[in-house]
Amino acid sequence: MDCRADFPILATRIGKRPLVYLDNAATTQKPTAVLEAEMRYYEQVNSNIHRGAHYLSRLATEEHEQARATVAGFLNAASDKEIVFTSGCTAAINLVAQTLALSGMVHPGDEILVSTDAHHSNIVPWQMLCQRTGALLRPVPLTPELTFDMAAYESLLSPKTRIVAFPYISNALGVVNPAASIIAAARRNRPDTLVLVDGAQSTGHQLIDVQALDADFYTFSGHKVYGPTGTGVLWGRQAMLELLPPWMGGGEMIREVSFDRTTYNDLPFKYEAGTPNICGNIVLAEALKYVQKVGIPAIEAHEQKLTAMLCDGLSAMPGVRILGPKLGRGALVSIVVPTVHHYDLGTLLDQMGVAVRTGHHCCQPLMLALGITGTTRYSFSLCNTEEDVRRALDATERALAMLQ
Ligand code: PMP
Repeated sequence: MDCRADFPILATRIGKRPLVYLDNAATTQKPTAVLEAEMRYYEQVNSNIHRGAHYLSRLATEEHEQARATVAGFLNAASDKEIVFTSGCTAAINLVAQTLALSGMVHPGDEILVSTDAHHSNIVPWQMLCQRTGALLRPVPLTPELTFDMAAYESLLSPKTRIVAFPYISNALGVVNPAASIIAAARRNRPDTLVLVDGAQSTGHQLIDVQALDADFYTFSGHKVYGPTGTGVLWGRQAMLELLPPWMGGGEMIREVSFDRTTYNDLPFKYEAGTPNICGNIVLAEALKYVQKVGIPAIEAHEQKLTAMLCDGLSAMPGVRILGPKLGRGALVSIVVPTVHHYDLGTLLDQMGVAVRTGHHCCQPLMLALGITGTTRYSFSLCNTEEDVRRALDATERALAMLQ
């Protein structure tokens, strides 16, 4: 697979050589199809949606709701009503936690189990929910191999467990968490446990079928799937979204307003107060169509090949420790080199035209558990090539020779 030419920004040169972009887990670059969709929207469609009687308003409304249908299809949601547009994965998780805080469904002493490799955006909203309700946050530890500790999880599950939240793929380790087993165990323990799967690093990298997954909520960010920043999705099981109260009040989320009483709109509009990111949501759908055109199975096979190549090369370098198992990982690799600061390595790689991310990756509790301050992370998307891996390995070898 060679889709590099679809991404104009990859023509960027650092010195004499083309940029090798390996920071896709932070944000993906955008293909021409996505860039053109944004221009087309503002040239031919732009209008506010839902309330207008005129041609452009009808057109924008139609395209916006078509975009929702595209997202629903992409996730295999049972209904478009289960797709709530948000400003990103963070906003989607906060929407769930905040509405749960308002719902009266979470009580003092209830427990929220969160896996240790969760991103801050899948920890802090639950802490805020705990502060408001008296519920308790319980981290699920990792095994010594840095995978989800199923035995420890099973022993933490109890009649008090109300919510379970975890990333499908850890953004700091690349470990793929056993979502099906985690969800099945939660349901066996207590059928009404609410399960949220953070799909920020899985969406666009592997097939997602929210009906088969059987969680209650699945969240992702548009900008990590070749779409614009400021877009994201909350998928929620319809029965749950019906049950939870609205969060933000304003236009669009209402049916009727008087000074005495307000009634709320149907799903999903109940959760979409105000003018949404109309262009962004429409362009996000274009990005998902681009992914579908390339094909998730082909993307997954390609990224797995690149990841295995990178793991093989890095593990042959003295002093390099790859975090997590070699197999059963997503399209990213995090390393630590005990004698080298991750920031120094990242800076030298940058000078050689290789963009990686260094630091705690918004996973400070995980870093604390591992006793490290950060890692150097190489992350792939469909636009990367084997040449990118060769350049990354060569640059890493040279950088480490300078630093060690
Ligand atoms: N969860 C995971 C696993 C992530 O990798 C990220 C982004 N790094 C987020 C949540 C938050 O995404 P955003 O900042 O786009 O809301």
